[in-house]
Amino acid sequence: MIDINDIADWRERIFASLLTVGLVVGAISTAMIVPFLLTHGMAEVALADLVALLWTFAIWRLKHISYNVRVLNFIAVVYLLAIALLLSVGTASQSYLLAPPMIAAILLNLRPAMLALALGAVSLVGLGANGWITIDVHGLDDPFKASLVAALNYSTIGVMLNLMCSTLLKGLSNSLADVSSFAATLEVKQAALNELNSELELTSAAVARLNDMVLIIKADDIGGVARPITFVNDAFLRRTGYAREQIVGHSLKVLQGPDTDKAAVARLFNAMLADQPCHAELMSYTRAGAPFWVELELMPFAGVATGEGASHWVIVGRDMTERRAAADAIHRLAFYDVLTGLPNRRLLMERLDALLAHPASSERLGAVLYLDLDNFKNVNDARGHAVGDALLAHTAARLGQAVRVSDTVARIGGDEFVVLIEGLGPDAAYATSVALEVAELVRSTLAAPLDLEGQPYRVGVSIGVALSTRQGATGHDLLREADTAMYRAKAGGRDGIVLFESAMLADTQHKLSMERDLAQALGNGELAMHLQLQVDGHGTPAGAELLMRWQRADGSAVRPDIFIPVAESSGLIVTLGNWALRQACLTWLALEREGRAMPLSLNVSPLQFRQPDFVDQVRDILAETGVPARQLILEVTEGLLIEDIDQTIARMHTLAALGIRFSIDDFGTGYSNLAYLSKMPLYELKIDKSFMNDTPHDGNSTAIVQSILAMAGHLGLRVVAEGIETEAQAAFLAANGAPLMQGYLYHRPMPLEQLRVLLHVCGGGVAALACA
Ligand code: C2E
Ligand code: CA
Ligand code: CA
Repeated sequence: MIDINDIADWRERIFASLLTVGLVVGAISTAMIVPFLLTHGMAEVALADLVALLWTFAIWRLKHISYNVRVLNFIAVVYLLAIALLLSVGTASQSYLLAPPMIAAILLNLRPAMLALALGAVSLVGLGANGWITIDVHGLDDPFKASLVAALNYSTIGVMLNLMCSTLLKGLSNSLADVSSFAATLEVKQAALNELNSELELTSAAVARLNDMVLIIKADDIGGVARPITFVNDAFLRRTGYAREQIVGHSLKVLQGPDTDKAAVARLFNAMLADQPCHAELMSYTRAGAPFWVELELMPFAGVATGEGASHWVIVGRDMTERRAAADAIHRLAFYDVLTGLPNRRLLMERLDALLAHPASSERLGAVLYLDLDNFKNVNDARGHAVGDALLAHTAARLGQAVRVSDTVARIGGDEFVVLIEGLGPDAAYATSVALEVAELVRSTLAAPLDLEGQPYRVGVSIGVALSTRQGATGHDLLREADTAMYRAKAGGRDGIVLFESAMLADTQHKLSMERDLAQALGNGELAMHLQLQVDGHGTPAGAELLMRWQRADGSAVRPDIFIPVAESSGLIVTLGNWALRQACLTWLALEREGRAMPLSLNVSPLQFRQPDFVDQVRDILAETGVPARQLILEVTEGLLIEDIDQTIARMHTLAALGIRFSIDDFGTGYSNLAYLSKMPLYELKIDKSFMNDTPHDGNSTAIVQSILAMAGHLGLRVVAEGIETEAQAAFLAANGAPLMQGYLYHRPMPLEQLRVLLHVCGGGVAALACA
């Protein structure tokens, strides 16, 4: 530490030393010289010596008096001492006169120094001119002139010395100022450095405790190690399981593993080469080899020592494993079916749209196979949902085996799967044949027997195939086409494969518009129930069947075999069926009022029969209209028995208990399950007109009709033969048990008004032929 702050400080120190030296030397010399002076009669000199000594002592002692006053006093002592010496000793003491200006120059300033010099010069001239001292100058006798010369010499030397002193002092003053300002800056810098140091300690403590991983690596390779790690924080060690000494000095490569994205690593590497900060999400590995996701931020750090480029890289890593897992889970839920793990409809649509939107889509045709399992509902109903789920999982697994890895197998609904085949090349014919081959492979793979909880099962599937050949078609279009083809496959008997043709689309659209119209037909009064009489062997009406008719507002009629299936597939049949039930009761009442009451047969579609409130509907309408239940014969088809046989039969019994009678319509054409016939509360069988068509000239049909009649006889059931158009048919039936007959030979279906006229005119027992 420098403790001389400026020149004033320095002067005070010089002055103090000067006083001390002056006092010591003065005291010694006075002690030595005073006896000599006294013995040689110079007592006044000894007195002067003593006075000077005491004066100096006073100046030394009285420190509270201002510096300038004390210096001036000291100069006065020295001046007076010099004069005394000049007077007593002679001109030999002339040099003493130089002391006051010198002391003034050093301890005060140039100006007091010059004044002291002038005083010295004037004193010399004064003393010399008056002869109080003798000044000898060679060749000059005039004492005034001689003293002038001496004063001139004295002044010249004095001025030179004064100037020298003041210049030196000025320089000294400047450098002292420099030194002290340098010291001041040094102090400021020291303080800043201290602050920085404590900040650094704080930062490194914080980094050590951070939850994020922090690493520092060298920017260069050292000793054959690429960018060695120089620092890692505790979070890094905790997450990776490394000990500090196991990782420091090693390359980052030890953190990579089999699933680390090589492309992302290369990107980081290139960014580092370009000295660019970079960012990536990478799969990393712990010391034990466990993978974890980390989000990395790399920042170049240019140290002070290096000229250009980074000396180090600071890497901050955040563990992303949980976030990635959550994101993956959400992705799985959004795009995959939970039961089978297959892509769902959304993912399928994305891939389908991508296939069709591809600029080269016409060069890379694709095909969609739309699969619907046959009778899956039966498995679910009969064996429970767990077995149903197992069947779906098996199917999914087998589908995966049947197609290429690059093909997409998706589950888009309960028992509906879609296979998307891509990259079939530009040739439509070739693509079609490959798609059909794959469809066949899928069908046969699924058909292989399967063990479902100890019971063998065979998966039948209907497959619709559509190709991405149509320009501008969307994913939805393609899927709908395959769906349409699948329905064709289903309609054409199950376990089939059908390729979509554009005609099918028109057909589907036609059906859709019919569905719309039919929904409004009831409200618009376009529907009516006609009646077709059933007669016995004598042509006497024994009952009538109600048949629905749809006449559009423009007068055109739509055939029931066209609109009834549409009503069934759309569900409209439930509303229409309930309406028909009410119409049947009203019709019976109208006939009864005229004394022409007869049992009426009504067609009930399976969908309507399976409505949970069907029994209530029937019961309510009967109660409301007062029609006796025995007057209604409900015609159901064998299709009703495909699903939920037990429940169906139970419901039939409930209705039979009310008095309702049942007839099996189109008997012999369905999946007859004869074992159940005896369990049903049946009243009647109706022989389908397709068998009557070829009777009696075709042996086969005739045999079927005969055996139905025989069986009905055994079961005690009434029989109605439909579609009787010829006398030959009527004669054959008359000879074979004489069942009731319904056909154009006797009566066509007709409106109630027409029937009333007919019955009125002909009377109950009139032969039909006469009235037809
Ligand atoms: P279905 O129940 O078998 O009805 C008998 C069909 O045979 C009727 O056709 C009838 O007009 C026709 N038919 C009767 N005698 C002859 C004949 O000698 N020759 C020929 N070629 N045909 C004859 P329709 O009225 O066209 O009805 C067709 C089908 O539509 C019905 O077949 C039935 O399945 C269904 N259907 C009609 N009305 C209803 C209804 O109200 N409800 C339900 N669910 N289905 C109905
Ligand atoms: Ca019928
Ligand atoms: Ca029929």
